Amino acid sequence: MIRIPGVVKSFSSVFIRNKFQCYLVGGAVRDIIMGRKTSDFDIATDAKPEEVTRLFHRVIPTGIEHGTVTVIFKGTTFEVTTFRIESEYQDGRRPESVIFTPSILEDLKRRDFTINAIAYDLTKGELLDPHGGREDLKKAILRAIGNPDERFREDGLRPVRACRFSAQFNFKIEEKTFMGIRNALNTVARVSSERIRDELIRLLASKIPSIGFKLMLQSGLLGLIIPELNRCVGVPQPELHCFDVFEHLLYSCDAAPRENLTVRLAALLHDVGKPEALSRDDQGNLHFYGHEETSAEIAEKITQRLKFSNHIVQGTAHLVRHHMFSYSEEWSDAAVRRFIARVGSENIPELLSLRRADQIGFCNTKEISYTLISFEKHLYKILAEARVLTLGDLKVNGRDVMESLSIQPGPQVGIILNTLLQSVLDDQSLNQREILLDMAKKFYESRLKSI
Ligand code: ATP
Ligand code: MG
Repeated sequence: MIRIPGVVKSFSSVFIRNKFQCYLVGGAVRDIIMGRKTSDFDIATDAKPEEVTRLFHRVIPTGIEHGTVTVIFKGTTFEVTTFRIESEYQDGRRPESVIFTPSILEDLKRRDFTINAIAYDLTKGELLDPHGGREDLKKAILRAIGNPDERFREDGLRPVRACRFSAQFNFKIEEKTFMGIRNALNTVARVSSERIRDELIRLLASKIPSIGFKLMLQSGLLGLIIPELNRCVGVPQPELHCFDVFEHLLYSCDAAPRENLTVRLAALLHDVGKPEALSRDDQGNLHFYGHEETSAEIAEKITQRLKFSNHIVQGTAHLVRHHMFSYSEEWSDAAVRRFIARVGSENIPELLSLRRADQIGFCNTKEISYTLISFEKHLYKILAEARVLTLGDLKVNGRDVMESLSIQPGPQVGIILNTLLQSVLDDQSLNQREILLDMAKKFYESRLKSI
């Protein structure tokens, strides 16, 4: 038997007291059977949304049009959905309308995969598994309920979910289900970017996202969603690498920290401009001049198209743009300070974890180069001791400069401040008001005044 958390049992007792049916469904049942942690409780009931609303104090009408309300009960969130059948899916984007049904069995039929259609009857304390979900869990197989072609035509997000679940649990996609994905590409093309993005976020948070991206490539989904990655298939990498650009990107992504979406996206896309940047010299050696800039631009386009937040779009592009640093032990403290100033001290930890992932993705070994480790030490030493790394750390600001030189606001002020910053990055002892104002004056008179 399976262990149901106490808070779920006491939640269900409210339904039972009021003579409503109450089932735990979806991901929570699947995860409990698999022995995985779950915090996401979906409840299915014959109570209508307005009846559920009357039963509890804290109810948020999150999806009334689908028959869903969110209830907060003893600090835990429950998504409560009235049993439903989805009527005609007109355009494969979303159900057109919902029709309620008194039957849990009907409700389970409209779900996507067998492993997601197991219900736990909280009244009787027993599992209801009409589609053989437990068997598929045991065999580690992802199988659509009913005819995959029809089910995917109803909702084009399901094929993407198939690849996501397959990566999340390391499950094989059953053959007909997989064929169904290939047949459903036209429907997938009509799904909103926001819904696809949400699945990609879950895929990118899984332990081994490459499993899902490979399935997306084989089934044709990747060509629809991120065709820029398809172009990397078969593009060679220089020596030291074991894989082509596509696989290198996937394994770098696997190696990036799963809790950091920006770094995972940056790892997935950091060389995506290589097909464009590729050239060969007379000796036949490969070069990818400027690929970090091309890759950053493409990464920005992809993440924007997929409707990621601006914060993620910019963060990803920034990491990609700066991933090609080449440190050597001759770098002075000043050189390291200039590097930090260019990249932004707040971005250093993410940039380093991208570079580690990049190195692991060379050949899928855990080896990190001695040079990267010594750069990390040097960076953290400077971060710990440096007093000046950005304009804000200077002992003078724009107003001080304008007053002392009697000049008006304008681009000159920025140029002067940046020149002062470069000098202080070289020699921190220059960060004193009088010294800086004196330097500003000399620089202004010799370089700017006559312009
Ligand atoms: P996760 O643990 O990632 O949340 P989940 O299985 O709970 O996985 P949700 O997206 O939260 O996935 O959906 C909850 C349940 O609703 C699913 O288990 C499935 O039964 C059903 N479901 C969700 N999306 C669809 C869909 N597009 N088509 C059919 N059924 C779906
Ligand atoms: Mg869920």
